[in-house]
Amino acid sequence: MRIGVLGGGQLGRMLGEAGVPLGHTFVFLEPAEECPAASTGEWIRAPFGDAAALEILASRTEIVTYEFENVPVGAVETIAARRPVLPSATSLATAQDRLAEKRLFAGLGIPTPAFEPVDCAEDLAAAAERIGLPAVLKTRRMGYDGRGQQVLRERSELAAAFAALGEQPLLLEAFVPFDRELSVVAARARGGEIAFYPPIENLHRGGILRLSRAPAPAMSAALETQARAHAGKILATLEHVGVLALETFQVGDRLLANEIAPRVHNSGHWTIEGARTGQFENHLRAITGVPLGSSDARGHSAMVNLIGELPDLAALAAIPGAYPHLYGKRPRPGRKLGHVTLCADSPALLEPRLEALLQLVPEASGVSSRA
Ligand code: AMP
Repeated sequence: MRIGVLGGGQLGRMLGEAGVPLGHTFVFLEPAEECPAASTGEWIRAPFGDAAALEILASRTEIVTYEFENVPVGAVETIAARRPVLPSATSLATAQDRLAEKRLFAGLGIPTPAFEPVDCAEDLAAAAERIGLPAVLKTRRMGYDGRGQQVLRERSELAAAFAALGEQPLLLEAFVPFDRELSVVAARARGGEIAFYPPIENLHRGGILRLSRAPAPAMSAALETQARAHAGKILATLEHVGVLALETFQVGDRLLANEIAPRVHNSGHWTIEGARTGQFENHLRAITGVPLGSSDARGHSAMVNLIGELPDLAALAAIPGAYPHLYGKRPRPGRKLGHVTLCADSPALLEPRLEALLQLVPEASGVSSRA
């Protein structure tokens, strides 16, 4: 099929890489000066709100999806009048607003950190009183990779934090002293079938994902059941078609929902080599109406993001089972330039290879140790 994609970053590139062998062709709408996805299809460079560009995208494609969470909902609605857009604008609108997400979780009976909307300094004081400190103040919109949020530990910090973030609607949520972060990546087909990947353990630093392990080590059957139940309820309620990721905090034997991404997700990159069907292929299967592929893991995988600078690629190639993916982006501090997936038949084989990989990745030093 001819598939249009709103956004042309690395997620678009990997969608293209999964879809070209299946006979799909791609048109990406990406306003930035770089378009990593352009290696796999046509690139229209224009703002998402550009009516003429949206018309060209719709006219050249049969179906449209998005790979960027902050695409204006209006752009999706404009295209939806001409072509099917999957996932729908409802999934996108929900994921763009942290308050809508939290209310969705709460409404479905999915545990989530205590939260309160904050629209003025008085709201913040009252919310901090009810929720208690420490707490995390977040912008309701446009926050990703840890941007637009601040941990508040003392009452004396409230005024400055509100001054820094308070130009826009905010949310205060309880700070969760979690044991670890787990995500669930799943694809839902048009007919409602869901393929769940095994839960993934994620390590963030500075709000940015550094390392994922999948299947997450030490998952009890009960925890895995909970993870699937939460993600399944969300997918079904949104009538989502395509891949969605649910990020959670594990506290003891409970999972608290943090946020959703209505798209292929960084914590699912390992599935390209580490699962029977990768998340990018399953997203394409879902939106094009083809039965989903198996989401079973092939073994044990770890994924390390390459942030800010690239490692010595020759040294990396010497690590068995290492699959580098470079996104073709210009290096800049804090920028995701690529990732490496490591695959092995057992955790015992995986962990020493991961140690070797982390030695080569300057930004990741110190993130590995679970032991
Ligand atoms: P988010 O943008 O909500 O995914 O937040 C980015 C990262 O900040 C998360 O992956 C956590 O590591 C941390 N974080 C966010 N919210 C909380 C919270 N309520 N309690 C503790 N850590 C948090």
